[in-house]
Amino acid sequence: MASRQTILIIEDEKNIGNYIETIVISNQYKALRAKNGMEGLSLCTSHHPDLILLDLGLPDVDGMDVLKRIRSFSHVPVIIISARTQEREKVEALDQGADDYITKPFGSEELLARIRTAMRHSVQLSNLMTQEQKYSKAGLEIDFDKRLVTLEGKEIHLTQIEYKLVSLLAKNAGKVLTYDFILKEIWGPFADTDNQILRVNMANIRRKLEKNPAEPFYIFTEIGVGYRMKE
Ligand code: CA
Repeated sequence: MASRQTILIIEDEKNIGNYIETIVISNQYKALRAKNGMEGLSLCTSHHPDLILLDLGLPDVDGMDVLKRIRSFSHVPVIIISARTQEREKVEALDQGADDYITKPFGSEELLARIRTAMRHSVQLSNLMTQEQKYSKAGLEIDFDKRLVTLEGKEIHLTQIEYKLVSLLAKNAGKVLTYDFILKEIWGPFADTDNQILRVNMANIRRKLEKNPAEPFYIFTEIGVGYRMKE
């Protein structure tokens, strides 16, 4: 491998940090260690890691704040590592731009699978931004340049909001986007909207795109969390 990808581990518990470091190093990644939030942020800006594993419970800054600060300047994939199992925190971390979430205790296979997925998404996203201006999957094509959606060669007419929704999901295909994230992206951070408007638009989109809207093939519902488009 020409240049190994670097993973920044922000974790204050030494044993867990060592455990993660051993796993990533033995799988040909480079590891960077930070034992608190400020050190993590500093290593993130100085070393530009390819992925960050971030513990939520840190001694100095809350992990959620570390995530927010990282997101203010970087799109690096972030996987949250936490002992907390509450759905609320999982959703909040995803809302704040985390790519995935893993709960302690976890096995090496689970961790590596999540790392690979998050890295793959980040490559796909940068491809989309630079060259691949298209989403193409099983008959559905979205040309982001032309703002054109076709299903098996036939143009699908979407409203402006519907198009924004579909292209947002398509550009993040495979990743769960939370209701809050989608609402903010489409209607803006201060818009007075709720999930209902999202559900109505999604129902319309599914009627236009899906053969059977009740059993969607392209856009899945992650109950209580958000939506995910087929990768
Ligand atoms: Ca901790």
